[in-house]
Amino acid sequence: TQPVLEISQLKLHFFTDKGVVKAVDGVDLTVKEGEIVGLVGESGCGKSVTSLSVMGLVPQPPGKIVAGSIRFQGKDLTHWKARQMRSIRGNEMAMIFQEPMTSLNPLFTIGNQLIEAIRTHRKCSKKEAISMALQMLEKVGIKRPGILNDYPHQLSGGMRQRVMIAMAMVLNPRLLIADEPTTALDVTIQAQILDLMKSLNKEFGTAILLITHDLGVVAEMCDRVVVMYAGQVVEETDRHRLYRDPKHPYTQGLLKSIPKLDDQKERLYSIRGQVPNPLQMPQGCRFAPRCEYAMEICRRKEPQLLPVEKEHLSRCWLHQEESEKQP
Ligand code: SF4
Ligand code: MG
Repeated sequence: TQPVLEISQLKLHFFTDKGVVKAVDGVDLTVKEGEIVGLVGESGCGKSVTSLSVMGLVPQPPGKIVAGSIRFQGKDLTHWKARQMRSIRGNEMAMIFQEPMTSLNPLFTIGNQLIEAIRTHRKCSKKEAISMALQMLEKVGIKRPGILNDYPHQLSGGMRQRVMIAMAMVLNPRLLIADEPTTALDVTIQAQILDLMKSLNKEFGTAILLITHDLGVVAEMCDRVVVMYAGQVVEETDRHRLYRDPKHPYTQGLLKSIPKLDDQKERLYSIRGQVPNPLQMPQGCRFAPRCEYAMEICRRKEPQLLPVEKEHLSRCWLHQEESEKQP
């Protein structure tokens, strides 16, 4: 089957006074029908910009897609105008964010916002919209009709997140992009929201692109994982392989830094050094300044994202053919 989302060789750069920031620098990413894909990396790696570019939400300028393409359900929307994007956003694709207050309007009731979201894309009466809204709220675990008259600030963080998911899901989108959806929530609520997303994925077959810095969240949720570093994909494989046999030194570092519940005393590992300044990307491998395996070639020549085994890609000289390493 045709993928829901197919990003190929996408380059989205920001043209600033200080220079060109290559926020997304040749990213390939595919989400298949009904699949949950994790997009993982530290903040500033380009994962949010990648997802915002899919939604047509990167301000251009200063941003600009300089190469590559974004296909959604077979349609090439790389250079779609704002008006065209509005017709599918909130409809065929939807997005939820870390902080629901940014996408819920504090001045309007939950009911008003849900009904507005529905009637922007569907010709239906207010009454029909209300009934759709209530049905969807029930699916996200809110059974109290009075919620429609509440304002966002009257709800807890977890409830707001449920409302935002209801708003995103009410028109049955084919793709839900969730950017750090649970990062601001405490652990119990976080688990509930992840469960909710998983069950909506099963029930409606909605594909999910889950953006997170937390590989623990990915372990719970995702079928496949794409790891980004400094604007590029450095590893991609299914969840099981990623945890069992991570290939890229960066992924290995991320995995080591997941806190282990059973071992409180162990000091949390963290990858030494910092993400590179996007205005001055290191030559060769962008991870080299932080990598404990860095070799001479790593600082000279950029590794490509290549298969290391079936359905497992890594961008690292450790796994690449000797012949490729010649200058
Ligand atoms: Fe480390 Fe070299 Fe692999 Fe980069 S290419 S991750 S520096 S071993
Ligand atoms: Mg982000």
